Amino acid sequence: MDKNISLIDSLNDAQRLAVSAPNRSMLILAGAGSGKTRVLVHRIGWQIQVEGLSIHNILAVTFTNKAAKEMRGRIEDLLNISAHSMWIGTFHGIAHRLLRRHAKQAKLPDTFQVMDSDDQLRIIKRLVKSLNIDDTKWPPKQMMWFINAQKDEGIRARHMIEPNDIFQRVQLQIYKAYEAICDRSGLVDFAELLLRAHELLRDNEDVLQFYQDRFKQVHVDEFQDTNTIQYAWLRLLTEGRDNLFVVGDDDQSIYGWRGAKIENLYNFQSHYPNHQVIKLEQNYRSTGNILKSANALIAKNDSRMGKELWTDSGDGELISLYTAFNEQDEAYFVVEKIRKWVADGGLRQDIAILYRSNAQSRQFEEKLMATGTPYRVYGGLRFFERMEVKNALAYLRIMSNHNDDASFERVVNTPTRGVGAKLIDNIRLLARENEISLWQASVELINQNKLTPRAGNALKGFLDLIKRLGEEAKGKELFDKVKLIVEKSGLVEAYKKEKGEKGETRIENLEELANAARLFDFDEDNEENLNELDMFLAHAALESGDMQGDDYEDCVQLMTLHSAKGLEFKLVFLVGLEEGLFPSQQSTDDVGRLEEERRLCYVGITRAMEQLIITHAESRRLYGKETYPRPSRFLKEIPAEFIQEIRIRANVTRPVAAVKKSSSLPQAGTYRLGQRVKHIKFGEGVVLQMEGEGAQERVQINFQNVGLKWLMLSYAKLEVL
Ligand code: ATP
Ligand code: MG
Repeated sequence: MDKNISLIDSLNDAQRLAVSAPNRSMLILAGAGSGKTRVLVHRIGWQIQVEGLSIHNILAVTFTNKAAKEMRGRIEDLLNISAHSMWIGTFHGIAHRLLRRHAKQAKLPDTFQVMDSDDQLRIIKRLVKSLNIDDTKWPPKQMMWFINAQKDEGIRARHMIEPNDIFQRVQLQIYKAYEAICDRSGLVDFAELLLRAHELLRDNEDVLQFYQDRFKQVHVDEFQDTNTIQYAWLRLLTEGRDNLFVVGDDDQSIYGWRGAKIENLYNFQSHYPNHQVIKLEQNYRSTGNILKSANALIAKNDSRMGKELWTDSGDGELISLYTAFNEQDEAYFVVEKIRKWVADGGLRQDIAILYRSNAQSRQFEEKLMATGTPYRVYGGLRFFERMEVKNALAYLRIMSNHNDDASFERVVNTPTRGVGAKLIDNIRLLARENEISLWQASVELINQNKLTPRAGNALKGFLDLIKRLGEEAKGKELFDKVKLIVEKSGLVEAYKKEKGEKGETRIENLEELANAARLFDFDEDNEENLNELDMFLAHAALESGDMQGDDYEDCVQLMTLHSAKGLEFKLVFLVGLEEGLFPSQQSTDDVGRLEEERRLCYVGITRAMEQLIITHAESRRLYGKETYPRPSRFLKEIPAEFIQEIRIRANVTRPVAAVKKSSSLPQAGTYRLGQRVKHIKFGEGVVLQMEGEGAQERVQINFQNVGLKWLMLSYAKLEVL
């Protein structure tokens, strides 16, 4: 009995109601930080402990792998059990699991491989080229988005009627050809995982029945961001059972651009007529000032279900706003604040720098690196996405499945072994004409004896190498298999020849890959009967985000606003609040998209527990161009009473002086903040602060090359630029 109490005694009344409600479909609709995820975890605990369900009867879907890991851990702590075999994961992870278990019924080869979007794009590029389609009119990237968008809606090429419009017709042709290649090579992209998993349940009564019986309760976190096919899949699983428990927040729907359907929240209510709605209104995460700012901002959106959050945790500090001169100054400011936080005894892992676009991370990374501050970037170029790692993985893949065309393309001539572009074109042609894989086409070409001896030998050399490696790898541990590839594929020798640090780093990364294989936690009793190698490869494709740096090191977290969903940090920097960046350029003339950007800003603000620092820059180099962006409209939408400006300019009492264009020694008052100057020894820099008067007057300058310096004006020979 005690245990039951511990399940609910740390909850408020509304949360308790949700956790302990009799089994039926439920919607927990509530704003950020109100305990939705906490409720979901405790609900699962309740069902196991009080309702007597086994962990096998539970399915829980989260938005990221990180969230899944955390949830598993929390359930284990709460119940003091092992939840190792519980089905908790992302939609993609769970779909993958289903497809592995039922590959045949899903009409997939046992050896199917998951490919990431990078591989997907390569295939589409090649396909567009081989069909002689003009890639300026039908850009591969846009085609990829088109294909994925169709799949997210559950639409296959064969479902689409032949359009009259030439653009659409060719687009459909590409979709068709792409599907054919994937089928032939046993490749499954991310959108395909979801679509296939849906078709698997839809078309196989026995499979559906099995999982409907097994999963007595189905739980979904961040429900507002499910897309059409994900929701359709959930509906199949819970059909006629009234056992779908979803938590979400319409104000945090931020994946509309990728096919998420906020309407699912409304549809849920009509599809599950017996459901109960519970709203949570108390926020436990943020201080009053942070929460009130977020509330005020999101109130500017018209399309809302409408709810308000309150907190009893006190107002806390005001939100700080810093206007930087440029992006370097912005990064400098942020890193200085971080250093102060750490010097005052704070942990780095409690800090997040959140930005709109991945490209913004570099400035911060450089400054963090320069000051020796450990940090971790989520979602940048992740470990498993690095070129050399992908090359090594491609060897592993093709060893496991010769028909994997994407891997074949990647490594047939990497490192170079004389399989030239023309020969590869021939292989592709034969493959396309006969609808066979590139590997089969190669075998065919060699058998036909039509190749020049040189080309024939080179190609045969590659096939033999893969076969030989496959033989040698048999019965070896995963770690040894990876080592074998790294050593014998020729990759290391090739990278050794690369000049400078790059090659060295690549070799280090390959060693790290072997290391990752050694540490890989293989679940031998996995229900899918996957062998260790296939499991590792799937892990690399699906969970690449989790493999960077040491989980235990105390480091600052850098990520896009999109990947910050669901997380919380004591100190949050929300950077680059500028028109054209955030809100993004494309969204400014579309009300729907602008509202999504505003929700994204709401997500950002509500990640902060204690302190929120917002920055924007007066000038920024963006995509190689100097821009002078206006401050983001979102800044004006936060009431001024919650904001304190920490603009350095505010510390200067003297009026801002006009700039004197002169290379002679400037007089006092010549400088303004942000003034570009040049010093004989230190080079170019920007004036940050001024102090003192007359002979004592000093300026602080941020020099591009040497960083911050205080200089006495009477000595320093500065040239105004
Ligand atoms: P988001 O919308 O950002 O995903 P959420 O609604 O899922 O937020 P949680 O992450 O579950 O919110 O909770 C926010 C924080 O508040 C967590 O640190 C959580 O532990 C804490 N919390 C939630 N409910 C309570 C409670 N009743 N008592 C104390 N702390 C709570
Ligand atoms: Mg949550």
